[in-house]
Amino acid sequence: MLEKIVIANRGEIALRILRACRELGIKTVAVHSTADRDLKHVRLADESVCIGPPQSGQSYLNIPAIISAAEVTGAVAIHPGYGFLAENADFAERVERSGFIFIGPRPETIRLMGDKVSAINAMREAGIPCVPGSAGPLGDDDDENLRIAAEIGYPVIIKASGGGGGRGMRVVYSEDQLLSAIAMTRSEARTAFGNSTVYMEKFLDNPRHIEVQVLADGQGNVIHLGERDCSMQRRHQKVIEESPAPGISEEERQRIGELCVEACRRLDYRSAGTFEFLYQDGQFYFIEMNTRIQVEHPVTEMVTGIDLVREQLLIAAGQPLRYKQSDVRIQGHAIECRINAEDPHTFIPSPGKVEEFHAPGGAGIRVESHLYSGYHVPPYYDSMVGKLIAHGDTRESAIARIRMALSELVIEGIKTNVPLLQEIMADTNFQRGGTNIHYLEKKLGIT
Ligand code: ADP
Repeated sequence: MLEKIVIANRGEIALRILRACRELGIKTVAVHSTADRDLKHVRLADESVCIGPPQSGQSYLNIPAIISAAEVTGAVAIHPGYGFLAENADFAERVERSGFIFIGPRPETIRLMGDKVSAINAMREAGIPCVPGSAGPLGDDDDENLRIAAEIGYPVIIKASGGGGGRGMRVVYSEDQLLSAIAMTRSEARTAFGNSTVYMEKFLDNPRHIEVQVLADGQGNVIHLGERDCSMQRRHQKVIEESPAPGISEEERQRIGELCVEACRRLDYRSAGTFEFLYQDGQFYFIEMNTRIQVEHPVTEMVTGIDLVREQLLIAAGQPLRYKQSDVRIQGHAIECRINAEDPHTFIPSPGKVEEFHAPGGAGIRVESHLYSGYHVPPYYDSMVGKLIAHGDTRESAIARIRMALSELVIEGIKTNVPLLQEIMADTNFQRGGTNIHYLEKKLGIT
């Protein structure tokens, strides 16, 4: 087993990783910025190291500081969580070169999948269906780009190959907007991701976002753990996730799951990963792969009973996968709500002191949050302050439970999106299931 690991993250995911470590008897080192001394996991960790000032560029993204924290504390491995350095191939490489275990895929896999153009090409070769598109980066030839768009058919979407977090995308509805949209996306991509490569896809008008969770041990054993529906989005960012996806048959689940497993074999994939698809008219279209644990992993854990973070740790310790595909059974239904410290109407972040915090409870309820009464939400980081997850034997029961939990949850002192989450849970179309990725913005009158 791993003796001691560094948790190179903050907030709820750092706490989640810490809990998995404690359960397995792994010692933990929390690395944190000066703004995060009071984080719950920093207090609970065996050791903690301050790695820099609040700005993440100087702390949570500071590779030398994180590696030296591992060195001085005698840790053997580093878990990156999600966000920050989780999908930074250079980081994974430097972790390994410094003699530590990176808890995630091999650096080469992260690099291949981190570039969306190369990821799509690799998936095409593996037989995974992709969105009709430019099949490679767009060049500088305007006529050629106009021709590609005409062939795909408008609307099209211009996407940054190095993009992430819902940024670096622009929808184009007609020919006269195409060239300026390419130029703008390119220059934004250069500034935001340090990579000006852009590509083009058909903009699907009515898709759902459905993704497949996989686990692989890097020793030839790979399984899939069914799918999640993450269609309830705002600005291409997920708000609510659930598993299984409403209306997906067992046959479809196995078919797409097996394709993902096969692709993992070809990639010699290791650790947890997610294949993201758009799903429209009964067809799956690959959009990208996330080579890390995802925010929404708990819904899969609730329906399969498999602890994904624990499995990541065991895989990193060199243990072969403990589950076969036939061991994976989807039981009941799980829904997750992301709780953000923000105004529920304007979405403006609302950092500050949490005067009062009470977590809900009861059968099938799980709370993943680092909040406590008296905690100050700092203004420097992502506004997500927790997740509420409900499991029930049916989708209706999961919805009923999460509505009850939302009504019990008390977070005072800061604004949160809880009123919006309650509104969505009461929405008859959501209750019916299967709403598409544009639904929430239409409901909110944003588009
Ligand atoms: P990111 O890495 O920033 O999350 P993705 O490629 O995963 O970017 O896309 C995020 C979201 O953007 C998708 O869930 C979907 O809502 C929307 N999107 C991306 N590609 C398309 C497309 N071709 N057609 C319609 N919507 C898209």
